Amino acid sequence: MTVSLDDLPLRDDLRGLRPYGAPQAPLPVALNVNENTHPVPEKVASDILDDIAVALRDVNRYPDREFTELREAFAGYLGHDLVAANIWAGNGSNEVLQHILQAFAGPGRTVFGFAPTYSMYPLLAQGTGATWVAGVRHPDYELTVDEAVAQVLEHDPDVILLCAPNNPTGTPLPLDVIEAVYEAARGIVIVDEAYQEFAPKDSPTALTLLEGRPRLAVSRTMSKAFAFAGARVGYLAADPAFIDALRLVRLPYHLSALTQAAAIAALRNAPIMLAMVDEIVAQRDRISATLEALGYEPHPSWSNFVLFGGVSDPAATWRALYDRGVLIRDVGIPHHLRVTAGTEAETTAFLDALASIGSAS
Ligand SMILES: *Cc1c(COP(=O)(O)O)cnc(C)c1O
Repeated sequence: MTVSLDDLPLRDDLRGLRPYGAPQAPLPVALNVNENTHPVPEKVASDILDDIAVALRDVNRYPDREFTELREAFAGYLGHDLVAANIWAGNGSNEVLQHILQAFAGPGRTVFGFAPTYSMYPLLAQGTGATWVAGVRHPDYELTVDEAVAQVLEHDPDVILLCAPNNPTGTPLPLDVIEAVYEAARGIVIVDEAYQEFAPKDSPTALTLLEGRPRLAVSRTMSKAFAFAGARVGYLAADPAFIDALRLVRLPYHLSALTQAAAIAALRNAPIMLAMVDEIVAQRDRISATLEALGYEPHPSWSNFVLFGGVSDPAATWRALYDRGVLIRDVGIPHHLRVTAGTEAETTAFLDALASIGSAS
């Protein structure tokens, strides 16, 4: 007899849910999960490996539970007068977000975001037993101060997740909206800046708003700009009291000694690790321009991906690209698909494959 999930005494609030499931297919051109498709430079990889080798000698002992050296390194990277006491980290920013929701959401509480937004937010909220509440955006996915504030006042959430720039749309979020949402909110406000390094160089970060706002946290990740998705390292900056709340819910020694060593070495090489960002931004802009020429409707993006409309049958286009060895993402928005900016060669492969399918409807 085959056992199914329905046969197990699963939590009632998890029944019927589906796990996160971006396809992991071994295609030659994978542009579906917004990774940095450039490998870690050889010189940096060997530097990281040296540090991992040293850490390995002490791996019989538990690692530094407070990952102090890593927190100092993140504070140095972020700047804005931040110190180690302002920093938290986890195995990917998904774990960091989970820590926040474990501490500030949970059963009987609500977590709010402006949809469409990052598909993990509802799953992370539900995982802690909280209820996900989806707000709305303009058809162009932008948000004005008044509309954002009105929705926050209406729903009065315990936790608000603001994705800036927003995934899957690429839309930037002005700081005045974040400030107004914070003022209107009673609860925690998280600004998820997973793609901040791909925004225009002079664009302000929500890190500038942290001072005097103890309910605000700004999360970042090494998965995208740093080309470190497989290492699983995310982090955030907030008031030291906010960090104390996260210590209540993390597992002891949650960041392995090898992860800490790898991340510290990568941060020491930050300028080299981030050297491909400009190239990726150039490919992103090339994707937008070419999509437009092909008759599609790309949305403005401050990230390393482009969401484009004007796709008559997204499932069919997705499949036709798949058959040509190119994996992109159907994010479930009608008549839209999302593509990550890859290397110049990968980007060319995507654009050529799309052009060969025929132009937009
Ligand atoms: C990719 C992404 C992350 C990063 O997740 P990790 O767990 O750090 O790999 C976080 N937030 C958003 C919106 C993302 O798109």
